[in-house]
Amino acid sequence: MKKMSCPQCEIHRFFVKNEMNEQLLVNVTDNYEVVPVNSEDSLDGFDLSMLYCLGCSWTGSPQSLRGGNKKRY
Ligand SMILES: [Zn+2]
Repeated sequence: MKKMSCPQCEIHRFFVKNEMNEQLLVNVTDNYEVVPVNSEDSLDGFDLSMLYCLGCSWTGSPQSLRGGNKKRY
């Protein structure tokens, strides 16, 4: 399974947030599927349409990752 990486800093770890502003560590597969880094974590209630990069200030949708080759906003 390939993972998508950040278009700015190339790391492949992101987090998502829920209504309570809690954060959950996720990866994004090359099918644009958001999966928890810790397999016992649940994505219930988290907004998967907005990703926050762990390594830089990049935020965006899974679809905007594009394999990390190009900057897209
Ligand atoms: Zn980044």
